[in-house]
Amino acid sequence: MEDDKDKESKCMRRIIACLLLCLLFSLTACTRNKEGSSSGYTSENYMEATSKFFAMDTYITFTAYGKDAEQILNSAQKKVNELESLWSVTDTNSEIYAVNHSAGNYVTLSQETTDLVSFALEMADKTSGALEPTIYPILTAWGFTTDKNHVPSEDEIAKLMQYIGHDKVILSGSQIQIEDGMQLDLGAVGKGYAGDLVVELLKENGITSALLDIGGNIQTVGAKPDGSSWRIGIKDPLEDSNMGMLDIVDKAVITSGGYERYFTSEDGKKYGHIIDPLTGYPAESGLISATIIASEGKVGDALSTSIYVMGVEKATEYWRDNKNFDMILITDDEEIYVTEDIEKQFALSNSHSEMKVNVITDEEN
Ligand code: AMP
Ligand code: MG
Repeated sequence: MEDDKDKESKCMRRIIACLLLCLLFSLTACTRNKEGSSSGYTSENYMEATSKFFAMDTYITFTAYGKDAEQILNSAQKKVNELESLWSVTDTNSEIYAVNHSAGNYVTLSQETTDLVSFALEMADKTSGALEPTIYPILTAWGFTTDKNHVPSEDEIAKLMQYIGHDKVILSGSQIQIEDGMQLDLGAVGKGYAGDLVVELLKENGITSALLDIGGNIQTVGAKPDGSSWRIGIKDPLEDSNMGMLDIVDKAVITSGGYERYFTSEDGKKYGHIIDPLTGYPAESGLISATIIASEGKVGDALSTSIYVMGVEKATEYWRDNKNFDMILITDDEEIYVTEDIEKQFALSNSHSEMKVNVITDEEN
């Protein structure tokens, strides 16, 4: 009798264990299904990889999501380092250095540099020279290239102005020629252009969600891994806080401002690193920052610098004529100007809720 009872209870325990295993298995299968089917995302899509490094004279942080994100970000970092070695003005082995020391001779450029120079020249034309890729001699005179800043004499500026002018650059296929004494500086477009090439590389490798921070300039791939928008802080140029937030998907948000790099002269005046190519002096357009929202980083970068030089009125005219971007402008009397299409995606921070926001519309009021 005792033996039969033992056998019976052993059998029952086995059946219960079996049932429990089956239950556990079906629960796991269920969770996997749910992840796979409900949003199209699996846990692999959420795998985050981050790469932080210093290049192009700035701090860079790339964040990407996906199974192979880490390895793909390694290639992205390599790409940025390669571009820097082509475009650096100080690296004696770079292509731009070769052009700047060519004594008027033709130099052959790589495809990437040809594309960058050709885009910079096109934007210089479109912005009527507010973007000036030949500004380097003037920047040097102000000491912005060495950080040993000083105010140059009017004579010195006047003499150097003869070397400024994108219309004097001859680009024929991959061959470039500039006059002896002229020098290129692609600092105003290079980072945005590099960002575009990284975005392209990530997309080609199947990344559908990534955030690139190139010295505060933001470029995004798609939306966040959960499908929601990226929330980007827009910096207050006068203090270390965000004056507002912007919700975006698959866009570049690029900011320029004199506050990013400047020096104070002996008489207490501040001079910023963005030069008005018409005068050879740091731009004083009434703006303290210009943020451009565009599909391409190169457009955002070229425009952030040139719109900063233009000021509100000319920037408004340029926007009405072109419309391939949005902008958020901050003036030195602390007003904000926002183009109509981006207004709904932009919100002031609580700490800045008193600031006046003006909406730039298609029509003149
Ligand atoms: P960004 O931060 O993109 O506005 O670029 C500013 C950098 O572009 C400066 O540090 C200079 O190297 C260069 N730059 C300054 N003024 C101009 C200008 N008017 N056009 C083109 N590049 C400029
Ligand atoms: Mg720029």
